[in-house]
Amino acid sequence: MRPGRWPVFRYVGCWAAAAPADRARLLRRFAAVVDDHAEELARLEVLEAGHTIGNARWEAGNVRDLLDFAAGGVERLNGRQIPVAGGLDITLLEPLGVVGVIAPWNFPMPIAAWATAPALAAGNAVILKPAETTPLTALRLAALALEAGLPEDLFQVLPGTGPVAGNALVEHPGIAKIVFTGSTRVGKSIMAKCADQVKRITLELGGKSPNIVFADADIEAAAAAAPMAFLDNSGQDCCARTRILVQRSAYDRFMELLTPAIEEIVVGDPADERTQMGPLISRAQLDRVRSYVTDDLPGIRGKAPEGPGFWFPPTVLTDVPEDAPCAVEEIFGPVAVVLPFDDEADAIRLANATDYGLSGSIWTRDVGRALRASRAVKAGNLSVNSHSSVRYWTPFGGYQQSGLGRELGPDALTAFTETKNVFISTEA
Ligand code: NAD
Repeated sequence: MRPGRWPVFRYVGCWAAAAPADRARLLRRFAAVVDDHAEELARLEVLEAGHTIGNARWEAGNVRDLLDFAAGGVERLNGRQIPVAGGLDITLLEPLGVVGVIAPWNFPMPIAAWATAPALAAGNAVILKPAETTPLTALRLAALALEAGLPEDLFQVLPGTGPVAGNALVEHPGIAKIVFTGSTRVGKSIMAKCADQVKRITLELGGKSPNIVFADADIEAAAAAAPMAFLDNSGQDCCARTRILVQRSAYDRFMELLTPAIEEIVVGDPADERTQMGPLISRAQLDRVRSYVTDDLPGIRGKAPEGPGFWFPPTVLTDVPEDAPCAVEEIFGPVAVVLPFDDEADAIRLANATDYGLSGSIWTRDVGRALRASRAVKAGNLSVNSHSSVRYWTPFGGYQQSGLGRELGPDALTAFTETKNVFISTEA
């Protein structure tokens, strides 16, 4: 299809040319409308994706905050003035045009907004392709954008399968950039196709993140925090700390504390406010998790409801070889492995023993060690004595096969611009 045939292309120019204050005002209005509908959006996510209601409310609020944050950037999207002889040199940050956002099912709303909000703020139009299993909140957000007064067709949702709707965005010559969040396997194939047109691309891919617990850490705090660091969203989280690395001298104490913490996790109806973990998204995901966790593997198993639904109990595998598939591959379910290590060098070696590099945590009371380990672990998002990794105002993205480029943070809008350098002679 030629670029001009999609209505979205008609709107790019006038949106980019609109006064920055007007673009910012409309995005703030969009944020306010999302806020007015936050409970409705959250309930939709519970129904469609099985998220716990507490998480789903946070996710709807995150979309609002992302839009507000991006709106604040519109008037601060500054180029530079660079000293030159014989004239003036300035850089212009120009919008790319139409951005295609391909989102996964695990956090449908926030991940769609991570790219959509800054792309719109920087003057682009957006076509969002939600995952097959979770199109509803994306469609609702597009309707709310219209209600807020955004130009019709500026932000469109294109539901459909990956190989058809997703691929159409990747291959279409009128799409200037693809922001893909999903599996490393699909991300690589999209990157290869984008190469054909030298299409701009951001990739947010898989992870198998370490949670390193040194013996000098507050072991009680580390053990208390470890379960939800991999069980949040039923483990369907690219940042899940699924490789728990514990210094050998603290191993027994850590396991003594971790065991009851895992057994007490409340798994059940995601609409119930007390629930900590809901079901998996689909039968296919349940089968995938089961393929990694056979009954004979030693470890700790929590509780999960019996009967209909895609339930899997919180699980921590112990005594597995450090290169076992469950220890190095992304399972994307409520499963972690615990591996012992001897010293700092051994911890870093183990932490870096995957092809991924998205997130990680370091538990220690030694500031020097925290800094040494933060420098040595190959990952884009680390936290010390905490498991936090995603804030809309700090950069997020992966090392190695966890991704390419960064989203969020102070430079979020710049990722949706092209830099043009202009030299103006004073000699003529
Ligand atoms: P997926 O790769 O199967 O699908 C992601 C999206 O790509 C979906 O919208 C899908 O329809 C689309 N798609 C699939 N094939 C395509 C193709 N050939 N062309 C174009 N689009 C195509 O991933 P998933 O199972 O939906 O999501 C889980 C994965 O996402 C996990 O690996 C997880 O780690 C990763 N993830 C990464 C981040 C991050 O920020 N790094 C965040 C969330 C999820």
